[in-house]
Amino acid sequence: MEIKNYYKAATLQDAYQKLNEHSSNFIAGGGAWLKMSTSDHETMVDLSGLSLNLIEEKEQTIEVGALVTLRDFETNSSIQSLGKGYISTAAGQIMGVGFRNLASIGGSIIGRFPFSDIITPLLTLSIRLIFYPEGEMALEEYLKSKGKLTKILTKIVIEKENGKGYFKKVGNTVLDFSILNIAIYKGIHGFRISLGSRPGVGVLAHEAMDYLNHLNKIEDSNMDQAVELVLKHVRFGSNEAADESYRRELAKVYVKRGLKEVLS
Ligand SMILES: Cc1cc2nc3c(=O)[nH]c(=O)nc-3n(C[C@H](O)[C@H](O)[C@H](O)COP(=O)(O)OP(=O)(O)OC[C@H]3O[C@@H](n4cnc5c(N)ncnc54)[C@H](O)[C@@H]3O)c2cc1C
Repeated sequence: MEIKNYYKAATLQDAYQKLNEHSSNFIAGGGAWLKMSTSDHETMVDLSGLSLNLIEEKEQTIEVGALVTLRDFETNSSIQSLGKGYISTAAGQIMGVGFRNLASIGGSIIGRFPFSDIITPLLTLSIRLIFYPEGEMALEEYLKSKGKLTKILTKIVIEKENGKGYFKKVGNTVLDFSILNIAIYKGIHGFRISLGSRPGVGVLAHEAMDYLNHLNKIEDSNMDQAVELVLKHVRFGSNEAADESYRRELAKVYVKRGLKEVLS
């Protein structure tokens, strides 16, 4: 990768203007993923002077700046309190501490990485992405959108909710990309079930969630039915890490295990 110019933005407006001056200009998050790119770029826009590395807990929400590192995200007490720690657990399973001190939450979301171990659990919470110069989007909506982003992600806003979460990453080794990752959350609005690295990016299992959320009491047979709905409606595929049938077997085991966990 060759970058012709480095530009440290003084304001968000300044950064936005520079970003859109040339089609190959880009925003740098932690730069861990960008470093692996083979394409050449005109200008890298650095947001590090704009105080986007803060996590603020408000009455109803937690606001996380786009430049917050995965390590700061993982170890923050407000984040640790979400769903009894499953979001922090998920973040803590991405590579090593040195890596997580570099990679940012903003870059992790904007990249829409199919293997992401953080997008999958975040999908089980109510999350809004806040953009400059304007606009906000639910995380699920952003993941379905296509194309290069011409705006700047400034922060993510997480709705606080009492509940319990579950996260499972299945990989060949701790440093490998997930073969499958699964997150389940049970809060006041019911169940949310998300599966990622299918090998596609995280998706919510809406049919299984709707089914469970219309029941007054959950029996073992209801969990089996929810698993069936996951297997019927969520798309799984094959890649070099694992084939579709193996992923389906993993989903079968871990979705039920996760449901039991959040109900216990
Ligand atoms: C070797 C390696 C192994 C990895 N393994 C895993 C793994 O096992 N599990 C896992 O979940 N993840 C893994 N990741 C991904 C990692 O966790 C991060 O998600 C990834 O590096 C992106 O974060 P970053 O801060 O490096 O983003 P960058 O590389 O800086 O940026 C990524 C993209 O987002 C854009 N961008 C960044 N910030 C903004 C912003 N504020 N507004 C608009 N656009 C923005 C950039 O222009 C770029 O297009 C791995 C990454 C690498 C390099």
